[in-house]
Amino acid sequence: MHHFSYKNGELYCEQVPVRRIVEEFGTPIFIYSRGTLERHFKIFEEPFSNVPHLICFSMKACSNLAILRIFSNLGGGVDIVSGGELFRALRAGISSQKIVYSGVGKKAAEMDLALDADILMFNVESEEELQLLNQRASAKGKKARVALRVNPNVDPLTHPYISTGLKSNKFGVPIEQALDIYMQADRLEGIDPVGLDCHIGSQLTELAPFLEAVSILRKLLRKLRDGGVEIRYLDVGGGLGIPYDQETPPAPGDYGAAVLDLVSDMSVSLIMEPGRVLVGNAGIMATQVLYKKQSSDKNFVIVDAAMNDLMRPSLYKAYHSIIKVAKDDGPTRKIVADVVGPICESGDFLARSREMDDPDPGELLAVMSSGAYGFSMSSNYNSRPRSAEVLVDQSNYYLIRQRENYEDLIRGEIIPGYILEAK
Ligand SMILES: *Cc1c(COP(=O)(O)O)cnc(C)c1O
Repeated sequence: MHHFSYKNGELYCEQVPVRRIVEEFGTPIFIYSRGTLERHFKIFEEPFSNVPHLICFSMKACSNLAILRIFSNLGGGVDIVSGGELFRALRAGISSQKIVYSGVGKKAAEMDLALDADILMFNVESEEELQLLNQRASAKGKKARVALRVNPNVDPLTHPYISTGLKSNKFGVPIEQALDIYMQADRLEGIDPVGLDCHIGSQLTELAPFLEAVSILRKLLRKLRDGGVEIRYLDVGGGLGIPYDQETPPAPGDYGAAVLDLVSDMSVSLIMEPGRVLVGNAGIMATQVLYKKQSSDKNFVIVDAAMNDLMRPSLYKAYHSIIKVAKDDGPTRKIVADVVGPICESGDFLARSREMDDPDPGELLAVMSSGAYGFSMSSNYNSRPRSAEVLVDQSNYYLIRQRENYEDLIRGEIIPGYILEAK
């Protein structure tokens, strides 16, 4: 469910025509619906309302301050994966006691920032990371609250690039080693092992892998308690998929009920790290058609958004539905086309061999379900300023990130004096 729909043939976000936003702020542009963001958060949280829990939005999916603040206002925290995300989260006003920190490559300086902020929990992904965190915390006279991210070796049945819970993935500590590492952690002066964590992948469209992973954690948790390690937090990660095309992922309510069923007798505080499911369908990217051209066997629709703006199709061959912002009056002409951007790479496409309404140059298209891993993955490749972001709330809309300008592109670049002077 989302709040993008046609009224009299015009695409609206809530009560605002997409065209009006584009006329004011240009293209390409990311447009988010506050109603959808809030609805998704509430639906996701609903099943857990009677148990201790914290929803830590996985902010790498969409890290705009305004969006973080919306979830924070609803009581949410965040799952961060870098010092930069910690900075953003604190700037958005998120309580440090609602921040968990995941990631295989935390640096000492990042650990220090998180220790100083006194975040809720570090999700530690290796023995060496644990040792370093112990050193950093001890040096500050602190104890870092820690969960081990366990790799349960279950197949999430998703795209290989976004599968994280297989033995062959770089994430977490192997399940067989987890008990030993916890025992070791329990003896470290700067470490307080309080949690158990896993995250097996992204865009999961089946319940079974989640439940298998949680069952494995359940067994481990028993053993840990038998061994005297007091686990208080069970972090089941994120990864619930959304419908981009024909997928039928579990409804958040069913997911929640099934997870709860497995953990409700365990006297733990539950932590969830949803990303995509909260924001994916709450955002679109609007783009303008620049040109059309035909080669001997292909149609190309060339638009002003590219892989630097929305990387998912190029990176994962991800599918995004592409629709017209203004529907055709009469009967629609269909074409089969590649929708491509201006970037000088053949991998620069938003859709391939797509049957779609034949657009004219100048027309606006909406790339649907672009709220997750859209803007947050964007770059300046080809020296393209990054898009603006706009938040719609009923009949109002707000610029939540200015479009970058050319000066932004060269910020921080320096021509060394001797090169400048060389003739
Ligand atoms: C990316 C990530 C998530 C969120 O994944 P989604 O598929 O967007 O829900 C959660 N936890 C960790 C550790 C992640 O890296």
